[in-house]
Amino acid sequence: MSRIAAKFGGTSCASAAQIRKVKSIVDEDPRRQVVVVSAPGKRVKTEAKVTDLLYLCAETVQIGADARGTFDVIAERFLEIERELGVDAGIASEMELFWEQLKAGVTLDFVASRGEYWNAKIVARFLDAIFIDPLKSISILSNGLVDPATYEALGAELQPGRRYLIPGFYGRGPDGQVKTFSRGGSDISGAIAARAIGAVVYENWTDVSGFLMADPRIIDSPRPMVEVTYRELRELSYMGASVLHDEATLPVREVGIPIQIKNTNEPSHPGTRIVSRLSDQEEKTTAIAGIAGKETFSMICIEKSLMNKEVGFTYRALGILQQRGLSIEHVPSSIDGLNIICDSEKLLPQADQVLKEIQTQLSPDKVTLVRELALIAIVGEGMSRTIGISARVFGALARANVNVQVINQGASEVNIIVGVAPADFKTAIAALYHEFVDSKSGQPRV
Ligand code: ASP
Repeated sequence: MSRIAAKFGGTSCASAAQIRKVKSIVDEDPRRQVVVVSAPGKRVKTEAKVTDLLYLCAETVQIGADARGTFDVIAERFLEIERELGVDAGIASEMELFWEQLKAGVTLDFVASRGEYWNAKIVARFLDAIFIDPLKSISILSNGLVDPATYEALGAELQPGRRYLIPGFYGRGPDGQVKTFSRGGSDISGAIAARAIGAVVYENWTDVSGFLMADPRIIDSPRPMVEVTYRELRELSYMGASVLHDEATLPVREVGIPIQIKNTNEPSHPGTRIVSRLSDQEEKTTAIAGIAGKETFSMICIEKSLMNKEVGFTYRALGILQQRGLSIEHVPSSIDGLNIICDSEKLLPQADQVLKEIQTQLSPDKVTLVRELALIAIVGEGMSRTIGISARVFGALARANVNVQVINQGASEVNIIVGVAPADFKTAIAALYHEFVDSKSGQPRV
């Protein structure tokens, strides 16, 4: 029988009631044999996630203050879940042990990982599943990526026909101690588990019904995406449209396992499928996968006559930023002009210095700084085979009276990026959305 790896995020595990939903989802399909869980997340918006409380606990101990209050809140969350589910996962003694370990001194990663560990202990009991500790089974390299040897080793532990429960977020570091992935890393653990069992699909259960074609804070009820490719997703999440951890696609993408984003609170909704290649149906109907943007960029504009004849000009300009540890987001250029786009938060505190260095080292005719720039990406694999997408993009922006300051399109033709003034950001997104999606039917206009 083919198998499914299903990862449930923080809100799906936030309370006993949510974990009951997890159980009915897992029970519903016998192929769901490997389950990965996050630590309990927020039950209400104002509540802290268990992982945040654990970090707080560790930091409090580190500065020599009393962490008992925070510890008690964490302990009570788990005891309550265990009690309400009516299982005995030994949480009370786990908590006592942890309190002693905390006082004696343990690593930050160990503390942070306990949310997933205790949660998995409880859910394993409730689902009658075999608990697998990633400290033994998932090996994480010093660069934070999974050791590829993990797939085979973990796969050998996960025998077909049985149900397994794995805590997300951590594994074993090169020193043999607990090492966590970056925040939100249970998504990566789920992908590792899916690859280890050669799953037909990696289901990622969260609290939204997949990805939306645009930000719902800007567009009223945007259309959900049925399918999106890994490449499209990467472009959209770079621009802030994020449901899934950035690195979570790697383990499954390499072997072509699709990811299905599903909603624990609305399991019948199909959600979004992330695939290597779009199905024929999707390919026919959607030239555009989605529109995303961020208002958090700044741009250095350098002008110099005959710049193109000066060998190494771009190299030296970028070198100035490199030496200051500034990462470059985009570099649109013209014959005698070079624009360097960076994250505002990083660039602005050093901008005066950077401009001065450009002035003295490159002797440009002019160098200026655009302090605030919004970038919008129109993303879609279909772009490369559909004539007229850019005409529609710029037509829609012109009709909305939006001035385009920069244009960028890579040769991969999976996106068109436009830079506009932050004041035009929302107008531009709305104009683009309505150009590509029929506002009446909610269907894409091909
Ligand atoms: N609990 C961890 C976090 O809050 C990992 C996760 O939920 O994916 O970042």
